[in-house]
Amino acid sequence: MQDTSLFRAWAEVDTAAMRHNLSIVARVLPTHKRMAIVKAEAYGHGLEGVVRALDDAEVEFFGVATPAEAARVRDAGCCTCPFILGPCFPAEREMVVQNDWRAALCSIEEAEHFDSLGKLYGKKVNLHINVDTGMGRAGLLPNDIPGLRDKLASYEHLNIEGVYSHLSAAAEDISFTHRQIRSYEHAVRDLSEALTLPYRHLCSSSAVFNYRAPSTNMVRLGRILYGYSPMPSPYNRELQNTLTLYSRVTLVRTLPGDHGISYNHTYITTGPTRVATIGIGFGDGYLHYLSNTGARVYLNGSYCPVLGRVTMDQIMVDVSHLDEVQPGDVAEIMGSNVPWSELTTRAHTIPSNVITSITGRVPRVYNNRHL
Ligand SMILES: *Cc1c(COP(=O)(O)O)cnc(C)c1O
Repeated sequence: MQDTSLFRAWAEVDTAAMRHNLSIVARVLPTHKRMAIVKAEAYGHGLEGVVRALDDAEVEFFGVATPAEAARVRDAGCCTCPFILGPCFPAEREMVVQNDWRAALCSIEEAEHFDSLGKLYGKKVNLHINVDTGMGRAGLLPNDIPGLRDKLASYEHLNIEGVYSHLSAAAEDISFTHRQIRSYEHAVRDLSEALTLPYRHLCSSSAVFNYRAPSTNMVRLGRILYGYSPMPSPYNRELQNTLTLYSRVTLVRTLPGDHGISYNHTYITTGPTRVATIGIGFGDGYLHYLSNTGARVYLNGSYCPVLGRVTMDQIMVDVSHLDEVQPGDVAEIMGSNVPWSELTTRAHTIPSNVITSITGRVPRVYNNRHL
């Protein structure tokens, strides 16, 4: 393990917990393949560290948002192929073809362009047809699927390797989700008349444990991989926390009563107060929205409330009740004692927003227990 003694804030990433979380899905859905979603710095865990640790973890693809992220997967030395979840600009498609990455097919125009690039490079371009069954973000509308299917035979340099869609409200609207599943099944049937479709995928974290889409054979895992399941399910308690955000006390002082703390004095001491300054702020991803919400850190075995506003690099916490606290002591900012869900509620946001906010200033330390 890396020496963290001079770090003000760092994230410890447990890649064995990620493999454990993948294994739960593999047990529940033994005939499904898995795509590990590593976009947005692997949900704040650090892209390179995560893909290196999961490269041999029986995942078919690494799901990324852009060709730039796909290039980082490649440069990390991974064998697992990147899958670009979102649309590519025309100027990015050549890079996709050169590297044999997987991309989404969302329009006839894209099919023509990818086909001509395949011809240029003398190879088949592997694409997954994206069907918009209700997300309203990308893909072909279900009504356009038969038209695409009938044209595909003329694209000699395309290999349609899969078909996928994305659910928009799996944790909120069960009947709409069933409509999306039916629409997806219909598209698979339509396309199967002309194609083999080795990869059929629809469900991600909010759906894998709660819905069945009979024609699918792969699931896309983001949040569940990182230990967070958005839907109630009996498997949730088996998921393990994958990231702990730590910071260190940099200074301990006793402030007199009636002393303002932090910008605009939204907190004023009511009496002498022992205050620890901690080396993390919104510049590290500890959201400013957590100011004056009752947010707390876990320090030397107890909870310490954050006083006043979160600043860019530092927060102040009340340690009056602690016997022992000194500079260098480690505070848990987020982890098993301060779960994402708690920060999420206080900041009025969603869990993925909390963890993807951890910035590049925060070193990621990998605890690769399995390696
Ligand atoms: C981000 C993303 C996912 C992962 O979603 P989770 O809910 O985190 O599992 C899956 N599919 C697509 C298309 C995505 O953009």
